[in-house]
Amino acid sequence: MAQELFALGFRHSIVVPMTDSTASGGPSLPQERRLVTSIPGPRSQALLERRTASVAAGVGITLPVFVERAGGGVIADVDGNSLIDFGSGIAVVGVGNAAEAVVARVQEQVARFTHTCFMVTPYDVYVDVCEALGRLTPGHHEKKSALFNSGAEAVENAVKISRSHTGRQAVVVFDHGYHGRTNLTMALTAKNMPYKHGFGPFAPEVYRVPMSYPFHDGLEGAAAAQRAIDLIDKQVGAANVACVVIEPIQGEGGFIVPAPGFLPALADWCRQTGAVFVADEIQTGFCRTGDWFACDDENVVPDLVTTAKGIAGGLPLAAVTGRAEIMDAPHVGGLGGTYGGNPVACAAALGAIETMQTHDLAARARSIGEVMRSRLTEMADRHDVIGDVRGRGAMMAIELVRPGTREPDAAVTGAVARACHAEGLVVLTCGTYGNVLRFLPPLVMPDHLLDEGLTILDKAFASTS
Ligand SMILES: *Cc1c(COP(=O)(O)O)cnc(C)c1O
Repeated sequence: MAQELFALGFRHSIVVPMTDSTASGGPSLPQERRLVTSIPGPRSQALLERRTASVAAGVGITLPVFVERAGGGVIADVDGNSLIDFGSGIAVVGVGNAAEAVVARVQEQVARFTHTCFMVTPYDVYVDVCEALGRLTPGHHEKKSALFNSGAEAVENAVKISRSHTGRQAVVVFDHGYHGRTNLTMALTAKNMPYKHGFGPFAPEVYRVPMSYPFHDGLEGAAAAQRAIDLIDKQVGAANVACVVIEPIQGEGGFIVPAPGFLPALADWCRQTGAVFVADEIQTGFCRTGDWFACDDENVVPDLVTTAKGIAGGLPLAAVTGRAEIMDAPHVGGLGGTYGGNPVACAAALGAIETMQTHDLAARARSIGEVMRSRLTEMADRHDVIGDVRGRGAMMAIELVRPGTREPDAAVTGAVARACHAEGLVVLTCGTYGNVLRFLPPLVMPDHLLDEGLTILDKAFASTS
């Protein structure tokens, strides 16, 4: 332990009194599914009414249970129900909700100081996080980082940095890509509904090219990359491209895993033409796919990496990490923000990273992935609406189609998700056509709950077909 803390660059030894473990969430919460009311229960329904009256309608909800506590593989609601969590708050709490090391470091930090603004008077935990990012992200070159609040903000800054470094403007993105909801990132995001509809005009100099989507295009990685590169060369011109921004496995777009060779070919093209290769690892990063980062799988070394979601065990933090000479291109004062790299969020990140290291959560993600893949593949043999099983590590999905075709079936996808919710299993949908069920359990999910969740899913197919 002492050695790991040293490796993370800690200078303080922290003693935190443990609270009454039965009263907290976190890992001490009983690891069981338990339904004592229908879903949502009466207390959640009452809160939902207040919510409807006071929260803007545009903020949607997947599953209207109000949370009381959460930890390990479960979410406990205000009615006393305990649900199995296959969503991790959208790939955020990989280390589990209220993870012990996160809680300890946050409590220690929040009692020392809550905010000074790193750009006014700096503090150590920000530097600690940047050092950890430099060590953990792909490649052994000299790296620097800048910290922000949200994934979208990190992506925007990666574009700013790329433009500053290259003196070029064009940004290349992909079909089915998702990069956020701010103005620039709406332009980068592919899907109109619900992310963009009625919210334009969007930022200019954004160009979209086809993704490698093996289930639908059947192309080898190199051929799919060539198809994208030809379009860039013809329609944009290599000399105008500031950066290529890509999710190494697409998240919101449908957990689309590009064919082998696709990412390396794009990275090569960027190296040859001077464009910055930006890997958006906001959903795939921090052990989710069974490696620290999804790019590690094919040894792709991006110039810049954007991270958020899983980085800080649930606190809002995001980063851009990359080649020192690219990161240093913007003028002094050109990057920043009031809250970027907030000390409490940084302390949480150090606790989350420590948890990933001490519990080897990358290995855990791989074993979760093996269980899910074999169970889902076996389900696909019996339920002919399951057209494709894909993903990597603890980031798995199934694409639902009209039997015997590759046409999307969003209706059955929604019905299966609702049947799971009613049985106390939190699952999320995604995909350009809304026909993908995705599974993102916390990496600390106990085996028996993983198994039970998959059984609920299996039964949901039987009950909806
Ligand atoms: C969630 C996500 C974002 C946006 O992150 P926010 O924190 O919601 O702004 C960007 N890129 C990818 C790949 C994501 O999954």
